Amino acid sequence: MRSYTNADVKRLDIEHFIHPYTDFATFRQEGSQITASASGVHIFDEEGRKYLDGIAGLWCVNLGHGRRELVDAIAHQAATMQYYNPFGHSTNVPAALLAAELAELLPGSLNHVFYTTGGSTANDLAIRMVHHYFNRLGKPNKKKIIARVDAYHGSTYVTAQLTGIHATKYGFDSVGQDFIHHISAANSYRRPAGMSEAAYCDHLVQEFEDRILQLGPDNVAAFIAEPIMGAGGVLVAPDGYHRRMHAICRKYGLLYIADEVVTAFGRLGEWSASEALYGYVPDIMILAKGLTSGYIPLGAAVFSSEFYDVIASPQCEGGQLTLGFTYSGHAVACAAGLATIETMKRDGLNEHVRVVGPAFLKALEALNAFEIVGDVRGSHLMCGIELVKDKVAKRSFAPTVGSAHQVFLACRERGLIVRPIGDKIVLSPPLIFTEEHCQETVRILSEAISAVSDTLLA
Ligand code: PLP
Repeated sequence: MRSYTNADVKRLDIEHFIHPYTDFATFRQEGSQITASASGVHIFDEEGRKYLDGIAGLWCVNLGHGRRELVDAIAHQAATMQYYNPFGHSTNVPAALLAAELAELLPGSLNHVFYTTGGSTANDLAIRMVHHYFNRLGKPNKKKIIARVDAYHGSTYVTAQLTGIHATKYGFDSVGQDFIHHISAANSYRRPAGMSEAAYCDHLVQEFEDRILQLGPDNVAAFIAEPIMGAGGVLVAPDGYHRRMHAICRKYGLLYIADEVVTAFGRLGEWSASEALYGYVPDIMILAKGLTSGYIPLGAAVFSSEFYDVIASPQCEGGQLTLGFTYSGHAVACAAGLATIETMKRDGLNEHVRVVGPAFLKALEALNAFEIVGDVRGSHLMCGIELVKDKVAKRSFAPTVGSAHQVFLACRERGLIVRPIGDKIVLSPPLIFTEEHCQETVRILSEAISAVSDTLLA
């Protein structure tokens, strides 16, 4: 590698690295902060300044940074057999073992794993597989997918269309508009005034059923949902919502795709949330991020035995499975997945999150005292804070104000990284967070919100 100074890196970065989700106007002026090293729950910038990582990289570094177990597993597999293609009849040891581990940890008959390189590719692949499945069943019209407004499912062309966050589509064409439809998000904070939580749930379930009937059940293939919406602002659905949506899927022959890219692997104190917390077993579950604790890219779409039997049956029409990626089942990534699971089990991390998670949310609730905090919500180590200009009317700030971004900057100045999304601040710390880390997070957030409140309200 060429020798460099931090100034060189910043210049080369601006000149050559197109960052994901970037506002070029400010990026070209301000450049980036370099994350130079990381350890445990902390990251360090190029000047050696230390920050508490309140977002685990990006909802993913669940085991914390710099874990020897992960580094060793990756190095060992890279030295033993780093890569060989997994097509057709070729396999490798970590890919087969990790698939078996996942089959054991996931609910129901989710026993068949297709590996991808991340969450977007796993969702994209799942949609292709769903279409393939109904083709094989001789139902080629059953193609439509129902997703939700404010959902985030990825950044390939089809998953961007599944995504219900309007801003991510601005300036792009739409691919899949003919078969992807959206219904409302389950946003309890923004439910119609005077409507009870239970009535709101009835309303959402009815909207779903009405949409299926409008599109024609013979044309609708699947429903896709995150158990808790992440990038949409950590939206926790009303009690019974997912179970009832699942029952509607069963009633009309739709498949249920649970996008557990964020919610699985301990973030909610469980290996996966769908059955353990919400009482339904999806037909397809999507995993990524925490699957390798973010140490190396890996995603997976996990299919039920009933689904697999159709796509693998020699009796069905439709021939072979003709899709896949060079890096499906990459040996080094799968070794990282195995080491993640082993470490989580050994350290009892799900059990830890079940204790520290509720304490975190309880501590965060103190922020409700601020005039600009409209809602504090979440579950376990997945929490969100919604900022408002008018708390009583639940009126948002104008988008140009960048309210959450202001809080993000004030937190960063004080040594804490949070994630701003519009008017929402999202928190998803490493699962090794202790109650002391939670208290420190709340303390810094309080100081930061206090510091920016007057300016925001002016
Ligand atoms: N699904 C959900 C719920 C996500 O939060 C994300 C990313 O944040 C994705 C899918 C896309 O995953 P990736 O960025 O690994 O492609």
